[in-house]
Amino acid sequence: MAHPQGHDRPPRERLPAVPCTTAPADGHAHRSPDLSPSQDPVAPDIVDSTARGGRSVALTFDDGPDPRNTPRLLDVLRENRVRAVFCLWGDHARRHPELVERIAVEGHTLGNHGMYHDDMSTWSPERIREDLLETDAVIREAVPHARVPYFRAPYGAWGRSPEVAAELGMRPLGWSLVVQDWDSPGTDTLVRRLEEGVTSRSVVLLHDGGGDRAQTVDAVARVIPVLKAEGRRFTLPAAHGP
Ligand SMILES: [Zn+2]
Repeated sequence: MAHPQGHDRPPRERLPAVPCTTAPADGHAHRSPDLSPSQDPVAPDIVDSTARGGRSVALTFDDGPDPRNTPRLLDVLRENRVRAVFCLWGDHARRHPELVERIAVEGHTLGNHGMYHDDMSTWSPERIREDLLETDAVIREAVPHARVPYFRAPYGAWGRSPEVAAELGMRPLGWSLVVQDWDSPGTDTLVRRLEEGVTSRSVVLLHDGGGDRAQTVDAVARVIPVLKAEGRRFTLPAAHGP
């Protein structure tokens, strides 16, 4: 809890509380004006839909691992035979390598969420690269041969990070549904927002760290059977088409 920005500081993914398609779009606006066209790398697409078409949905959990929330969440996912994406906050992963290992062992997919959950939108590619590599090293201390196919920018503040992530072999991962679970609005409210919000190929942004996420875990436990009963399949986010 010694992080200078405060462990429990609510994540700013909430600002603005709008569909995240706006956040990734922002990221592409921050280009250094001194880059010539030939030097300006093409920013990769930010993934915001699932790999499969139809009624598929991807659950993604940010800001963990957290000893209060992550083990319960993993239990819920295991009981329901659902696999998800965990975008790991590097400093939290360093404190709880056993949870990183459990996430990987239970078949979930890992994402890099930066070392200290900094806003990278004004950072140079070099600085971003350093942060992402440090985070990656921490993850690999816990799981030496970890596959980390995704990077998600803290706060959705992308800046130059999509191209850096791509250079490091990670897809920038956005989202298509937010339910503002960071506000702990009540489990019933979260369940309703999820049931109403999930559409075909949704990538859902949720949190298992950064605070008490008991409501998130409870809501996920309730909503998975409902979504399954609707015929939805749980899968991974992907870059392109159905
Ligand atoms: Zn976050």
